[in-house]
Formats: sequence, structure tokens, C-alpha cells
Amino acid sequence: MKIAFIGLGNMGAPMAANLAKAGHEVTGFDVAGASAEGVAVAESSVAAVAGAEVVITMLPNGAILRAVADEVIPAMAAGAVLLDCSTVDVESARAVASQAEAAGLGALDAPVSGGIGGAAAGTLTFMVGGSDAAFAVGKPLFDIMGQKAVHCGPSGAGQAAKICNNMILGVTMIATCEAFALADKLGLDRQSMFDVVSTSSGYSWSMNAYCPAPGVGPQSPSDNDYKPGFAAELMLKDLGLSQQAAEAADADTPMGQRALELYRSFVEDENGRGMDFSAMLPRFEKRGRG
Ligand code: NAD
Repeated sequence: MKIAFIGLGNMGAPMAANLAKAGHEVTGFDVAGASAEGVAVAESSVAAVAGAEVVITMLPNGAILRAVADEVIPAMAAGAVLLDCSTVDVESARAVASQAEAAGLGALDAPVSGGIGGAAAGTLTFMVGGSDAAFAVGKPLFDIMGQKAVHCGPSGAGQAAKICNNMILGVTMIATCEAFALADKLGLDRQSMFDVVSTSSGYSWSMNAYCPAPGVGPQSPSDNDYKPGFAAELMLKDLGLSQQAAEAADADTPMGQRALELYRSFVEDENGRGMDFSAMLPRFEKRGRG
């Protein structure tokens, strides 16, 4: 398949390289001049999409996605599919899909979970919104870049699933970290805390698979000085998107709102930028109630 890949950053470059490795003809473009293994680099996004059957975007945010969509949609081949894998607001995902469909193109929003490691290993999970026909075009590519693709519904459904999932993740990580900090102050040994909670009703992915306490549980960023992993500022971005969506939909999300406030303070005022999102544990450890 002839594929264009716009946005060859931390995630995009390994994803594009995996498609090329699988035998697809991939042409990429990134404003920063980035490239990826096996990928031909074009001089512009418009040049990259010429003749492509699928155009994949992996960009920082919704505003940039909208700008790139304005550029590439008029240049895309009739019947091609615009497949956005970035994490963006639901409204931008729907707007770009309508714009593509009005131009006779297919459109999918397909944000991912699995991080940079999953992108490199081809084990991402895709949460996909869009038509059945467009999903059928994207499916073989999801199978190369990932291990699972869930077709969640019409346009925007992929982004909706992603931000709801990450709102739960942000909230459970904070709950896990504050509970560890309380356990410390109560004199409870961290290994005992893990052994009990990971097999009791407090268990979660944050505790069991990504334990924020160093030396306890499976290997995680806490064992590597909280180097990301999944950076706190990316969690802040996703929590912002979930609150934006909650406001637009008039949904009451007090825990998501509180998690957003805590990650905002952590990133903006407490040196959390560049740290893994599980570094909330040392943050809580240092604090008292005041
Ligand atoms: P990144 O900043 O490394 O990559 C984004 C790339 O887009 C950059 O190389 C940038 O130069 C390029 N770009 C910006 N504007 C452009 C334009 N107009 N035209 C072409 N290229 C342009 O970010 P990333 O970590 O690769 O993340 C990409 C997306 O994936 C984000 O939406 C992020 O939220 C999401 N995501 C990231 C992770 C992760 O662990 N990094 C996990 C899941 C989802």
C-alpha cells in the first residue's frame, strides 16, 4: 500500500518504520525535518500525500491536526483514507473527519495506548472511530503497528475512549500514590502494601502493572528515577482533553477535574515536567496535610 506519514516524532517515526518494514511504500513528512527507517522523506505534507491510499497523522494536538488537514485534504487521492493517530480533542477529531468525508475521503480517529515502547515493538492498542469501510482499510495497518484495534463507533469515538481511559488512569495513579504516602506515614512496609493491595479490592493497572514505588512490583519508571515512561505533561494534556469534553457534554467529572489540578500543579509549579506521571508518589511523600 502507498502510505503517507505526517509527524515523525517519538511515536510517529517507529510506527512509520514498522509499516515500511512490513513492505509498504511509506513517504513521510515532519516540519522538524525528522525521518524514519525505510521511509522516503518528502519536502512538504502536500508532496507526501500525493497518490497515497492512506494518510496517517501523528501530531501534537488538535490545532496542528486541523492545520495539517487543511493542507493535505485537497491534495489527497480520491477515496483515500485520512487516519489520525494523535491524541486530540473530540471536537477536532469530528471536524477533521467531516471535512475529509465532504471531500470524498474516508476518515478514522485512532489514538493509541502503549507509548514509545509499544510504537517501536508494534504492540500499540488503537481505539478507533469512523465508518466500517474506513476501518476495513485501516485494519491491516493497525495489525502491523499494534496488537489490538477496537472499533469504538463513529468519528470521535476513538478519542472519546482514549480520554475516558486516561482520566481513569490519572485518577487511579493519584489514588495509588497518596495511599502509598499514607501507608509510609502509618509505618507500613511498601512491599506489604503492594502484596495486599495488588491482590485486594484496591488493585488497578497503576498498582499492579506500573507500581509507583521503586523496588516494588514489576519493573516500572519508578525503578529508573521516574524517567518516562509516560510523562506527567502528557497526562496533563489528556486530563485537559477529558475536562474539555466533559464541559462540552455537561458531564460531572469531579475526580477527573481534581486529577487535572494536581497534575497541573505538579508539572507547572513542582518540577514535575519531564518526570514520569507516577512521580506523584515522591510528591505526596514530601507533603503533609497543610
Ligand atoms: P512528538 O512531539 O515527539 O511528535 C510530534 C511530531 O509532529 C514532531 O516531530 C513535530 O515536529 C511534528 N509536527 C508538528 N507540527 C507538524 C506539522 N504541521 N507538519 C508535520 N509535522 C509536524 O510527540 P509524540 O510523543 O510522537 O506524540 C504524538 C501524539 O501521540 C500526541 O498527540 C501524543 O499525545 C500521542 N501519544 C503519545 C504517547 C507517548 O508516549 N509519547 C503515547 C500515546 C499517545
